[in-house]
Amino acid sequence: MAGNRKKKKNSPSGFAVFTEFLLSLAIIGGGVYAVGNAVSKSSIVKNVKGQDSNVDSSEDIQQDSTENNIYDGYSFSTVSYNDIFSGDLVLVNDEYEHHQTNENQLVGIMDRVDENSEDSEEESEHKIMITALQPLSDFMNAFQETTGIDNVVIYTSYRTQEVQQELYDNFVAEGGDDSDNSNSVAKAGHSEHQTGYAVDFTTLPDYEFEGDGDYAWFSQNCQNYGFILRYPDGKYDITNIKHEPWHFRYVGIPHATYIMQNNICLEEYIDLLRERYSFDSDHLIINGSDGLTYEVYYWLADSSSETISIPVPTDYEYTISGNNIDGFIVTICTDGFPKYSSNSPDTPADESPETEVTENEGDENQENQESEESEENQDSEEGEESDENQDSEDSEDNEESQEDENSVESEESIE
Ligand SMILES: [Zn+2]
Repeated sequence: MAGNRKKKKNSPSGFAVFTEFLLSLAIIGGGVYAVGNAVSKSSIVKNVKGQDSNVDSSEDIQQDSTENNIYDGYSFSTVSYNDIFSGDLVLVNDEYEHHQTNENQLVGIMDRVDENSEDSEEESEHKIMITALQPLSDFMNAFQETTGIDNVVIYTSYRTQEVQQELYDNFVAEGGDDSDNSNSVAKAGHSEHQTGYAVDFTTLPDYEFEGDGDYAWFSQNCQNYGFILRYPDGKYDITNIKHEPWHFRYVGIPHATYIMQNNICLEEYIDLLRERYSFDSDHLIINGSDGLTYEVYYWLADSSSETISIPVPTDYEYTISGNNIDGFIVTICTDGFPKYSSNSPDTPADESPETEVTENEGDENQENQESEESEENQDSEEGEESDENQDSEDSEDNEESQEDENSVESEESIE
């Protein structure tokens, strides 16, 4: 663990590197999308009206569209049924298992590089879905610019199924109680970190991120960057995970705005859309924190069909995401161009994303180490808090894992 700590100490200097790296990665974004699968393509905002789209993927979407004008102002976009398991609104928890991550859309985030460190050769690398990369960069940079504080780094981001399995196995082997998800490391397939849309922050040099004081800025402003505080206080009965001030999940600006403003958790939001805002009933209108107006609706997927035709607007930008349960959520921007739209004029569409997409496997080793350490930490910290702490997935990560080297990934324990 001592070794791990050293690594982390170096992280501060790495922040600048991290942000610069993100900027360079952002340029590659469009290209990454272009190689995505059907859902990825569909989720690329389509610009049918007025503006010229420089994203080839829109063509793919058009090709997939079969029947047209079934509804006035709408045409159909056809995707695979299995696409309900992809997108930035997938709900992954102890009830709904993570099914798939489009690895070609994962990009590496260089969290820290310190040439003077004895651990320099060991590079802590985190991955995240390309969709969330620029928002994450903006999110972290805005905090630093606003507060002048530069000690926040990413502790954990994407985690593979294998890593999660190892974490879980280690947890059980060490006597962890797996009878209740809330009190243990999430079983493989049930950690939100496997989606590539979740990140855990921590602070240097102590690896504590309580989300209070100046750091409350994160939970107060996350919606402006499309992130939500995934496990808020008071939602344990729904999420089965105690309050984790360090864990943020990317869902996109309109959804983050609604969720944060209404003090609900992702589970409640997904249910709300399924129960009240299907395509044939009312659509949810959201005034996004970005000043744009969005229209959101849910489309139930016929589980007996291999392909699903989803009504989408013919005149507006939209994105489609699966909910990881039974259908799709269509998000329309009715009055402008979302800042993080891959179709926006300032987002190049060509470039090879390959560089960014690095290996995931290396992390696993780190995670194992971390998991062990993390558990130890957790005990100390969470012991005080009682059972609930243990329950929280991330709590362990932040407090405990932070001590681990790979702490970045080690958070595993919690989720
Ligand atoms: Zn987490």
